[in-house]
Amino acid sequence: MKLSKLAIEIAESPTFALNEEARLLKERGEAVINLGIGEPKNKTPIAAMLASGAKLSSGEIKYTPPDGLPAMKKAVIRYTEENYNRLVAPENVIITNGAKQSLFNIFYSILNPQDEVIMITPYWVSYAEMIKMCMGIPVVVTPEDGTFVPRFEDIERAVTSSTRAIIVNSPNNPSGAIYPAELIDKIVNMCEKKGIFMICDDIYHKLTFDRNVAIPAWTFAKKDIEDSHIIVVNGVAKLYGMTGFRIGWVVAPRALIKVMTNVIAQTTSCVSPLAQAAAEGALNGLQSVVEALRLQIQNNRDVVLQEMRTFNGARLIEPKGTFYALPDIRAFNNNSVEVSRFLLKKAMVVTVPGKEFGMEGHIRLSFAGSVKDITEGIARIKWALDPTSPNEIYIGDKKMIRDWM
Ligand code: PMP
Repeated sequence: MKLSKLAIEIAESPTFALNEEARLLKERGEAVINLGIGEPKNKTPIAAMLASGAKLSSGEIKYTPPDGLPAMKKAVIRYTEENYNRLVAPENVIITNGAKQSLFNIFYSILNPQDEVIMITPYWVSYAEMIKMCMGIPVVVTPEDGTFVPRFEDIERAVTSSTRAIIVNSPNNPSGAIYPAELIDKIVNMCEKKGIFMICDDIYHKLTFDRNVAIPAWTFAKKDIEDSHIIVVNGVAKLYGMTGFRIGWVVAPRALIKVMTNVIAQTTSCVSPLAQAAAEGALNGLQSVVEALRLQIQNNRDVVLQEMRTFNGARLIEPKGTFYALPDIRAFNNNSVEVSRFLLKKAMVVTVPGKEFGMEGHIRLSFAGSVKDITEGIARIKWALDPTSPNEIYIGDKKMIRDWM
């Protein structure tokens, strides 16, 4: 069968593939712990349920404008004013089917064949595949060993006449790093001077711990929103744990939003009004749900730090935000795909190989789930990898003995 060369080359999403593997193992009765997927366990906020319930009961579920319902855009404008101190116009906003569609449409709308987009290691798995789907070339900048924060000089050095954009994802999936304000300032400055788009994937911007904050790029912009080349991507998936509603949005220069609107109109038409009503409900509802989620995730992060302290050989840089930790496991095996496979086979724990994020020798652990899963999951990983840990463990009701070292 002849299929598109470009499409065939697109890699499978490793997180979704691992999730499916975990689901099948669970179905077979195995005591699998999923530290793979980044999905909070909370229920949908009441305000979101009520708003989409009311919309459903109206029986008026029709096409909406391709750039989003005016009421939903209004909620995003208010959110942007409150959280970014920027007053934007409806023409600066587009609502999409998840932040994923936001990002794809951005790349589709800004890239010509062979244009380059700079990504910083470790980077979210989907960026490179999306850029390639849009005929662009991902260019990787890697921080020095032992840190997840890049040096500005290395970013500057990666810029060529073909550079169209740089993606900045801080707080960062998969490392939990937050880039320092000085670095953001320098990137904004560089992008304004050179006319390069700065794509801020801010999907985790409120999930920060202790006193850490992710300073928005706009804080450092010298030009107004139409000229600054700053693009902000956000959504309800992580903020409210509303992953299944598939609502994201972009705030950007009008010229870009106009093109993105045509892309949506000719592909998916619009976003379901049910999902938009839910997201609008969440954005306009009680915001204590966000703080409750943040506190729960921060507590989970503390549990991870505590459990990792007694993991001899693994090195972890403390996550400052998100719900991911990216321990360095090179003391056991440099091949993270092998380590993740081994952990699933022996310990029934799902992790994501760091290789998928451009960070070989690491594995990503999601701590979005329950404290019980985190504690037990890390105990099993220690048992499987660390020879100084006790060599007997219960996995479900089976007593397991480590017999491979
Ligand atoms: N960006 C990053 C960094 C993410 O981690 C994710 C979700 N895993 C997304 C974007 C996509 O979010 P959404 O579910 O809204 O498509």
